[in-house]
Amino acid sequence: MDDIPATADSVSVLLPGGAPGPFDYAKGGLDLKRGDIVEVPLGRRAALGVVWGPGTGEVPREKLKPVAARFDAPPLPAVLCDLVDWMAGYVVAPPGAVLALALRSGEALAPPKLKTLYRRGPLEPARLTPQRQRVIDLAADGLARTPADWAELAHVGVATVKGLIDAGALEGVEVPAFSPPPSPDPDHAGVDLSPAQRAAAEALIAALDGGFSATLLDGVTGSGKTETYFEAVAACLKRGGQALILLPEIALTHQFMERFEARFGCRPSEWHSDVKSSERSRTWRQVAEGEARIVVGARSALFLPFPDLRLVIVDEEHDSAFKQEEGVVYHARDMAVMRARLGGFPIVLASATPSLESWVNAAQGRYRHLSLPARFGVAVMPAIALIDLRRQRPPSGRFLSPPLEEAIETALSRGEQSLLFLNRRGYAPLNICQACGHRIECPNCSSWLVEHRFRMKLACHHCGYERAKPHACPQCGAENSIASSGPGVERIAEEVAHLWPEARTAIASSDVLHGPRQTQDALERMAAGQIDILIGTQIVAKGHNFPNLTLVGVVDADLGLSGGDPRARERTFQLLHQVAGRAGRADKPGRALLQTHQPDDRLMQAIAAGDRDRFLAAEMEDRERLGFPPFGRFAALILSSADEGLVDAYARDLAAAAPQADGASVWGPAPALMARLRGRTRLRFLVKTVRNFRIQDFVRSWLAACPPPGKVRLSVDIDPQSFL
Ligand code: ADP
Ligand code: ZN
Repeated sequence: MDDIPATADSVSVLLPGGAPGPFDYAKGGLDLKRGDIVEVPLGRRAALGVVWGPGTGEVPREKLKPVAARFDAPPLPAVLCDLVDWMAGYVVAPPGAVLALALRSGEALAPPKLKTLYRRGPLEPARLTPQRQRVIDLAADGLARTPADWAELAHVGVATVKGLIDAGALEGVEVPAFSPPPSPDPDHAGVDLSPAQRAAAEALIAALDGGFSATLLDGVTGSGKTETYFEAVAACLKRGGQALILLPEIALTHQFMERFEARFGCRPSEWHSDVKSSERSRTWRQVAEGEARIVVGARSALFLPFPDLRLVIVDEEHDSAFKQEEGVVYHARDMAVMRARLGGFPIVLASATPSLESWVNAAQGRYRHLSLPARFGVAVMPAIALIDLRRQRPPSGRFLSPPLEEAIETALSRGEQSLLFLNRRGYAPLNICQACGHRIECPNCSSWLVEHRFRMKLACHHCGYERAKPHACPQCGAENSIASSGPGVERIAEEVAHLWPEARTAIASSDVLHGPRQTQDALERMAAGQIDILIGTQIVAKGHNFPNLTLVGVVDADLGLSGGDPRARERTFQLLHQVAGRAGRADKPGRALLQTHQPDDRLMQAIAAGDRDRFLAAEMEDRERLGFPPFGRFAALILSSADEGLVDAYARDLAAAAPQADGASVWGPAPALMARLRGRTRLRFLVKTVRNFRIQDFVRSWLAACPPPGKVRLSVDIDPQSFL
């Protein structure tokens, strides 16, 4: 957008939030430019906003209120303002709602707090006691310190220091109260890269000088992708730029930070939901000042105000956690690519199982493609075998088949670790009355209540509703008839405890009961070899190295395959590949056993054969034939309301108002994936178009013709994750 001519007497100011914006204000005698963070009057209150451009002139000049003040903070960088504008258009959201992702209030905008330190002053003290002499001697180094530090280092009382200050022998200097973040050192401790890693690192480093580019860094887990992109981060540091490493929240582990520290000599600035708000405000400010050079963060770190960002890494680029599903719905990987494009710098997408989107982009030459062929060092990919559950049935009421049981037994006898993977929290996913077949449902959502044994509760994983397990069936009244059906991790843990009472076991899941800290703790004990059998959900799939783990058992490999959504297949493949890859990462060979009812499915066959590319190629053909992404485009509209009649009526109106256009079709309304959620009824439309189609314009004109009534909420999801 345009810069603001000095002669202009008004500016437009964008306010964070859902209001249509920006609004015009008089400059109020301030010298303002795009990106400046200001306070403006809004009705009777003062609001925070960002100068967005010259005034639009929509309101006569005499009626404009003046900008009240400009904050003493660096302006939002132009690239970030451009990203906000572009993204608002792309995701069909008000620009202010997108701006809210990039802005922080309060402490972040106040000038940095100061504190007073003391150093040698111009005057000589009149009376020199031995204590005073010690302070004066120490002050020869020219450093500034707090009174307490002087006292401690010179072995004198604080009163002595105060006396010297009063005498003018020590003088005060104002310094920022918080020291800047430590500077990562690019030369701290590199590793000797293998020839393949070196070639990839050199290509990434060369890209730093080549403007915008996107590179898919593709290699199995353990092939050294992290070591390789660390070299590009180091080179970016040497050039004086800032770099951002985006990770799925779940992979932002202590282990990753320690690895970073081992490579660069200090921890990076961290940005994710576990970081305290006050600390995030400080980091935001340090990024804006250019002091924080490297940020490792979850998706929202993308909106930090880097003035000199020159490299973004998106690790585990295929991970669905990069998709923000609430509020402004966006995919952080895709937005990161745009930030790189707008900023004219390279972006690296790293994965062992690239998304179909990135895979096709690489295959069609829009992205560069770097491959790391093998695991680093002596580690080899685990041998993967399928267990056909139709033939190898577990004993009744149990879930581990005989071959899996035997394999665990063997690992235990060798003193090696096993991981049992099941992507289901709690004890049992379903509770059924054996008399009438009634299934216990959440009263607010269309989902079954999940049994949690430790907590003695049935819980809804969508809205948090909880109840005790009933003694009698709520439907037919039969006593003691409610039976747990199917396994969750707690139930597998019970089976394991029964089979191997001596083994040291633990559960790792994101469950409320165990909490993130306890999960972290379990993962660390696993890495330290203090656990024999770890039972975990997808939380164990990512980012961790367990050197003594030689067996991975997947309890239910079919989970996620029913329903026929091609994206669900893609995800299942990624997850299984990733989990299987946990085994045998050090010098001991590993093995993965997958229990399945569909051993002939090409997904299972590809996993077992370790043939990722064949799977991707086949899926790609299917997608192309169906015109599914990335060969076509989708947008989803989710309508929801607590009033079912209202949402139904609006859906009918909307269906009738759907525009006609060549290359676009509208499916729906249909019940959304969660047809009821938190007491609201949800319906979904899908817009499917050919690839080169302005799907946003289509959606915008449709909604303009038929806006939602007051009590219906409407959410637009461009490029939705699920296709059905
Ligand atoms: P990926 O990110 O592809 O999973 P990593 O970068 O985490 O792979 O590497 C896997 C393991 O191998 C790590 O422990 C890493 O430190 C080690 N490693 C990889 N490359 C080298 C190398 N060139 N020299 C020493 N260790 C390496
Ligand atoms: Zn619920």
